This record gives sequence, C-alpha cells and structure tokens, in this order.
Amino acid sequence: MANKQKETTVIIGGGHAAGALLTTLQQKNYQHEVILVGEEPHPPYQRPPLSKNYLAGEADQESLYLKPRSVYENAGHHLRLGVRAEQIDRDNKTIRLSDQSTLKYDRLVLATGSHVRRLTAPGADLKGIHYLHDIADSDSLREQLVPGKRLVIVGGGYIGLEVAASAIKKGVHVTVLEAAERLMQRVTGPEISAFFYAKHSGAGVDVRLNTAVTGFEAGGQGYVSGVTLASGGTVPADIVLVSVGVVPETALAEAAGLPCDDGIIVDEFTRTEDPAILAIGDCTRHRNLFFEKTQRLESVANAVDQARTAAATLMGEKKPYDSPPWFWSNQYDVRLQMVGLSQNHDQRVLRGSPEDKWFAVFYLRESHLIAVDAVNLPVAFMVGKTLVQQRRKVHSEILSDPDIELKSLVSAPQTSS
Ligand SMILES: Cc1cc2nc3c(=O)[nH]c(=O)nc-3n(C[C@H](O)[C@H](O)[C@H](O)COP(=O)(O)OP(=O)(O)OC[C@H]3O[C@@H](n4cnc5c(N)ncnc54)[C@H](O)[C@@H]3O)c2cc1C
Repeated sequence: MANKQKETTVIIGGGHAAGALLTTLQQKNYQHEVILVGEEPHPPYQRPPLSKNYLAGEADQESLYLKPRSVYENAGHHLRLGVRAEQIDRDNKTIRLSDQSTLKYDRLVLATGSHVRRLTAPGADLKGIHYLHDIADSDSLREQLVPGKRLVIVGGGYIGLEVAASAIKKGVHVTVLEAAERLMQRVTGPEISAFFYAKHSGAGVDVRLNTAVTGFEAGGQGYVSGVTLASGGTVPADIVLVSVGVVPETALAEAAGLPCDDGIIVDEFTRTEDPAILAIGDCTRHRNLFFEKTQRLESVANAVDQARTAAATLMGEKKPYDSPPWFWSNQYDVRLQMVGLSQNHDQRVLRGSPEDKWFAVFYLRESHLIAVDAVNLPVAFMVGKTLVQQRRKVHSEILSDPDIELKSLVSAPQTSS
C-alpha cells in the first residue's frame, strides 16, 4: 500500500451507514483519502433515539452523534456537511455538489439512506402535520407534545408506536390509526401485535385497527383540525404524525444509470454494477448470503453490517455479507428485540407468557429456526441470534419448555430429525 498512489474514496450520505464505514476504515488503517458528503449539517448520528429518549427530552443532541466530528477529522477524513451531491458523472468519475463545486473520485460509496413516505391525501400539506426522520423533525414534534393536546398518529408501525408511548407519558391524548388488522403487521407475528395493542390500550392510547385515512380537515390559520376516515367520520387532532414507512433514496443512483429496484442493487460485497461504486444501508436492495432472495432492510444492524462489508471490499478483502438481520424497539418499559425475518414461517412457538410481561415467539420453517421476537427476554434474543445464524433445527417442545435453559441449546448438537 505504501508504494501505491493515493486514491480518493467519496462517501455520499452522512447517516449511520456512512459513519460506521468511516470508523471501520479508520480501524483498518485505510490509506486512501476519504471525503464524506452529507446533506444534513450534523456529523453521522443515530436515528433510533429520535422516536425514543431524544423525543422524550431525556437525551441531548451530542449524545446522538456516533462520534464527535473531530474524531473523523483527526483520523484524516474530510467531512463536507450541509452539502448535497446533485449528480454523478460515471464516465469522468466526478460528482457535482449543491455548492457548485465538483469532486473527483476513484471509489464511490452511496449511503443515501431513505426518506419518509409522504401522504398525498387532501389536506396533507396543512400545518401541524409532522413526519419523523431527522433531528429537526424530532425537535419540532417534541415542542408540540404538551399536556392536553390531541395527537393523531397515522400508522401503527414501530416508529408511530414509540412516539405514542412517549406522548401519552407527557399527558397528550393519543389516537393511533392503523389500516391493517394488527399493529406492526409488516415486521412481526400476531402474538407480539396483540401484546402491544394491549400495552398501548392499557396506557390510554386509543388504538383503532382496520382504519384507513382519507385526508385531513383544516381548522383556523391553515392548521390541521382532524383526520378523516374511509369508514366515515373524523378524528379531531391538534397535531398529526404521519408514519407510514420509508422509500429508499435512489434518485442519484438512478440518474447515473445504476440498476435500482426499490433500492440500489448490490451484491454480497456491496458492489453495484459499476466496479468503482459500492452502496450500503437503507438505500440498497442487497444480497446477503443468509437469504435466498435479495432484501431491502431499514435497520441500524444492516447499515453497520453493510458498512463493514464495504470496508472489507475497499481494502481488497473478500468478505461477503452473511448474517441475519436484527432489530429492536422500546415502548414504555418494554424492550422488543427481533432477529431473522419471520415471513414464510410454518410454525410459531411461544415461550413464557404475555401476561408475565416477558415472553418470546420463535418462528420455524421446516423445523429450522428462522426468527425470534423477544419481549423483555434478552436471553431468547441472544440465543436466538446464534441459532438463527447457524440455521439450526430445533424441537418446538424444547423452545417452549421453561425448565430447559435456552443457553444450553447453543452448545447442544444439531437436532437430526
Ligand atoms: C425515528 C426513527 C427511529 C428508528 N428506530 C430504529 C430502531 O429502533 N432500530 C433500528 O435498527 N433502526 C431504527 N431506525 C432505522 C435506522 O435509523 C436506519 O435504518 C439507519 O439510519 C439507516 O442508515 P443509513 O445510513 O442507510 O441512512 P440514513 O441514516 O437515513 O442516512 C442517510 C443520509 O444521507 C443523506 N443524503 C441522502 N442523499 C444525499 C445526497 N444526495 N447528498 C448528500 N447527502 C445525502 C441524508 O440526508 C441522510 O443524512 C429508525 C429510524 C428512524 C427515522
């Protein structure tokens, strides 16, 4: 490396994946120049607290940063923050930036993340309708969460529900409108959905399932005053949070002619079709050897794992992405931890009881453990992570028997039938 000419690696995007990549490159003593271009004014930060303790006012802004800006700069990395990459010229290996400057690259990593899915229903641009994706969004929502106000949350996914838990604790009246028949339907099974329905209802949140929204009513001065329902009627609101998912940020890649399909297409080494360009994090539809099909995932674990894979690829190592995804959510005093993907399971096994406030659901396909959702039961998550990673066959009676220690399964031989 010492005799080789220095190249320039540019990272577009300043989120979790970009931050993890900078750190890993530093740990690996990457010898090339690295420039990060991030549209937001902040150094790479964690978004999970934006709907959890940061929204609740229990964490300050600096605590969100993955590292202080100076740590990256002291390592010799350049951060160009508050600047957007506007266009990639793949023939000349240049990037045009929003400040009208041009950057030259030898290697490029796209870490552009995702943006919130916006509603286009009538009244969707009224004041008082919030979305939650960045620090400024969380700040402006927190200001509105004062006792006695009526907050209507459109979408019963994990972000909407985390906000509901924070808001009700502050004395806000909270209604959650979910179009599906159960909460967090996209990511979890019915037992977990039912548990969180009971938890939120018990805390005083008005949770309405099978409830589709058609638009928003205007009150005075252009502010929202209610949310209209497909079933007829209106739910009065002082504040609305729309939390109906995210869309991968692929516009830059698409305009540059890189193949995209609900995410920038990358292989298990995070490589796009262009040998000079990698892509990582929420913006990708990626190959993970762990799955048969390509995936698009929105999680910190995926952002970090792909960043590590990209760092290895940049260093010339061949280390494919091959690990199960994992995720967590905090609501009230409950910590939900999930590993694997539970879609396509053919059996669910319960350990513990929702009434005891700790339990786990194990998802099996053809007797192989493919996913675990654990509620206040970290051991089930930790053991599950190992067993899912090993694609282990496990007897359902063992998983459900509280007298058999879960930890003993890790060292136990594979079930043969
Ligand atoms: C409120 C909230 C709560 C969450 N909670 C959890 C949780 O509990 N657990 C979990 O695992 N995950 C959670 N997530 C998801 C997790 O934060 C994301 O999966 C993760 O941040 C993805 O990292 P990323 O770097 O791919 O994208 P992002 O973090 O979205 O970063 C992308 C960055 O790129 C910038 N960018 C985009 N285009 C350009 C451009 N052209 N030029 C310059 N910059 C650009 C964007 O401004 C952004 O800063 C949560 C997300 C949110 C919003």
